[in-house]
Order: sequence, then C-alpha cells, then structure tokens
Amino acid sequence: MPSHATFRFDNSFARELPGLYVPWRPAAVSAPRLLYLNRSLAAELGLDVASLDGPAGAATFSGNVLPEGAEPLAQAYAGHQFGGFSPQLGDGRALLLGEVIDRQGRRRDIAFKGSGRTPFARGGDGKAAVGPMLREVLLGEAMHALGIPTTRALAVVATGEPVYREQALPGAVLTRVAASHLRVGTFEFFASRGDLESLRKLAEYTIARHDPAPLATAAQPFLALLQSVSERQSALVAQWMNVGFIHGVMNTDNMAISGETIDYGPCAFVEAYDPAAVFSSIDHRGRYAFGNQPAIAGWNLTRLAETLLPLLADDPEQALTMATEVVAAFPARYRAHLLRGQRAKLGLRRGEPDDDAADAALAEDWLTLLHAERVDFTLGWRRLAAAAAGDEAPLRALFAGTGAPDAWLARWRARCASEDDGAGQASTTAGIARARAMRSVNPVVIPRNHRVEEALAAASDAGDLAPFEKLLDAVTQPFDEAGERASYAEPAPAAVTASYRTFCGT
Ligand code: AMP
Ligand code: MG
Repeated sequence: MPSHATFRFDNSFARELPGLYVPWRPAAVSAPRLLYLNRSLAAELGLDVASLDGPAGAATFSGNVLPEGAEPLAQAYAGHQFGGFSPQLGDGRALLLGEVIDRQGRRRDIAFKGSGRTPFARGGDGKAAVGPMLREVLLGEAMHALGIPTTRALAVVATGEPVYREQALPGAVLTRVAASHLRVGTFEFFASRGDLESLRKLAEYTIARHDPAPLATAAQPFLALLQSVSERQSALVAQWMNVGFIHGVMNTDNMAISGETIDYGPCAFVEAYDPAAVFSSIDHRGRYAFGNQPAIAGWNLTRLAETLLPLLADDPEQALTMATEVVAAFPARYRAHLLRGQRAKLGLRRGEPDDDAADAALAEDWLTLLHAERVDFTLGWRRLAAAAAGDEAPLRALFAGTGAPDAWLARWRARCASEDDGAGQASTTAGIARARAMRSVNPVVIPRNHRVEEALAAASDAGDLAPFEKLLDAVTQPFDEAGERASYAEPAPAAVTASYRTFCGT
C-alpha cells in the first residue's frame, strides 16, 4: 500500500550525528487500527489530515508503511536512573522517523514508541500496550492545554497483537512529536566514553537546533548552552509544581534539553496537596516525590554540567568554576519562575522585587495550609478565584467549614487590596476582574487518576474509546467547567488516591 502521508522530512539528526544512533526499521504489525489521531497537531505539522484518517493512517502510524523521506533510527543515550549511572540505555522500543519543519517554522521530531526491539532493547520486548500509550495522550495533551512545554501525541494505533506484561494486553504504537529527543543522557553517553569530538559535535548541534541566534555568537557558547538549559528546565519544573504534576521518573534520560516534559510513564497529578506524594510503584524511597522535583532537576542539571566541563575551558579548574556558578544559580532561577506563577495563581498583578519575600511567604503559607487541612490542590487554588469575587463558600467547604483559612485569607485580601487603588477593601469590580484572571491560570479540570484509569480500562479491556474521548475533551479545556465537564473536576475518593500506583516501562 502506498503511503499517503506527506511529511516533508529534513533529517538533521541522521545527517549530522552519526555515531549517536543505529538505523533501524519498525517491526511489522498484523492488524493496525487507528485509535487516535491528533488532527490539530497534524495540521500544525502541515500534514494532509484527511488522508491520514482510517487505514492509511493506521498503516503509517503503525510503521507498516514508512512515509517517504523517513530515515528511522534508534538513538543512543546513557542516563542516571534513580541516581545510578547506566552508560548505555538508548531507544529500546522507540525510533526517530525524522524531523519536520512545522507551519510556524519549528523543527520537530516525529518518533514511534512501541515499534519493536532495537539493538538497545536489552531484555525488553520493544512493545507498548494500548493503555499506557493512551495515557501519554491524555497526560501530554492536558499539559499542553495547561500551557506547559511538552512532547505531544500525534497518533496511537492498536497493533492487533498482544503484549505480555503481568497479563496479555492489546499492543499499540504511539507517534510522538517533540522539539527534539536530545536528553541530558545523550550528553552523558559521549562524556562517559571520553569521546570529546562527538560531544562537541552534539553540543554544537544542540545549540544550532535550540538556541541558534543567541548562543551561536556567544563568547562562551557551551556555557551559554548550560545556562539556557538551566533556564528552560527551571521554568518547566516551576510550571509542574504550580499545577501539581508529578513526573515520577526524572532520570537524566528523561530530562529533555529542549525543556519539554518528556516520557509520560508513572506520572500523575497530586490530589490532596502533599509534597511527599509519590505514585510510582518503583519509587520506593520517594526520590521523585512531588516536592523533590526542583532539587532533582538541579541534580540532573549538575550531571549535564559535568559532561560539558571539557568543552568549557582548557583549564579544568576554570571549567569547574564556570559550571558551578550556573548550577549554583539554579535554585534561585527556579524560585523566580515559581513565584511568577504563584503570583498569577494568587491573583496578584504586580510583583515588585521588594514584595518577593512576602509574596513567596504568602504562597508558601497557603500551601502549608492546604497540606495541613488535606485540601485538594487543584480545587483549593481554583476556588480562591471565587473568593476573590466575594464568594468564599466553595472554598470554605474544602476546609469543612472550619476557620482554618481565616487568618491566611485576611492576609491575602490585604495584599490584593494593596494593588487596587490603595482602597482598604478590594472593590467589587477589581474582585471580578481578579477572579477572571485567576480562573485563566488555575485549572479546574486535570486528568484525575481515577478518571484516567477508568478511561484506559474501558479502552484496553473492552475496546470502548468513548470514556477516553470524553476525558480528553475535558482535560484539553482545563480552565472551563461548563456543562458536563464539571463532573471531571471532582477529586478521587481519598481511599483511591491512597492506594493509587503508577507503573514504569509499561
Ligand atoms: P523509560 O522508563 O520509558 O524512560 O525507559 C528506560 C529505558 O528502557 C529506555 O532505554 C527504553 O528504551 C527502555 N525500555 C522501556 N521499555 C522497554 C521495552 N518494553 N522494550 C525495550 N526497551 C524498553
Ligand atoms: Mg525514557
């Protein structure tokens, strides 16, 4: 069958980085069926959407028919997993098909996940199951709708073949779109081998791809690269923290240089606010707990910095000083991004540097209150918007009608009033405007764990995609609670959250 897909590939990774991959072909699948096609993303990529619906899309997105111009390859990378270094990981079940320049001129990777074993598969079967691939669609599209940089799902195809995990599951292939698949672990691959020449080529490629204008002409381009990654990753993790996202497996091979969220495995959103929240079944010691994420991002950046040392300066002492300065600045960068997000969530328009400490304390004390009273993180923030417009009842209901939030609310109101023409009390108009602004940054619908599981079970066990589609519709309009979507805002029963576990390598 000829492929009707019209990807206009321009494969710079394959062209410029030999030694970093193995050319490899996807495994054929017996009965491909298109379960999901992201039509708006396909249009963004300049694809002919109509020709990708149905059997032609199933043939393309299963890997059975390679689109013209694709040069499939498995990328090599290394990585620190739960703190321990593995010098060779790589795409065990993924393939980069190539890159496409999208309608806005951005270069984007098109990649498969679950397309069969590669030379990096080690003991793995190279496969993926329908449930986890649809999970990546739900979580990734929700993150995108929340305005958080992320890789995105373009399509999911059921293969018609079983995948053996604890039980037999229906198999699937996911097509993923990413700004690139360059990871901290990609740099670690060459650095750990002492292959300086390849490392330099990789760093130059990365600069050309992600920061061409500002970095190419920088006096210290490799130092500027480290700063730029620090900026993107600190901004990203601050956004995660402000929506309650737990990545679950922040190994260095899962930290993208582009600053996109990547690798939706055991991730989940926090329900009742708890910095110690962990859902991943393999994260026994809570290394990747919700509240640890900023520190882990800093740790991962340090691993990147180490790989770049030989490129920074001939004198090792000098290189170390330069890298250390960037790494040491990470926590402050992160806190600045976090505070910017928190101010918006609190409905504060103005943030003078003089107010930083007090505003950060206001946000921190709010979180402490949510934690102490076991309040749902998402609803706590969201209902603060109604309180800004004068309706405190929904918020107070989250505190079981107690006076627990009284003192904090008084402080917050005073801070809000300080922005409103110096009036002692925030005026009604100011309150309504503030509530509107707050509702545009505090989501009401997130992918609740029980809803995600319910939708995936229906799709995987019974082939019923309707709950998945309804949930996807709700989580991709996260600030809107109109009509039926409101039911998706309900927290999971506490017992469900307490026993909820997510899984890796699925
Ligand atoms: P992840 O936890 O998805 O980031 O994967 C970590 C490493 O394990 C990567 O090198 C993956 O390619 C590899 N891997 C995960 N699952 C499989 C599988 N079923 N078959 C082959 N390799 C896998
Ligand atoms: Mg990974």
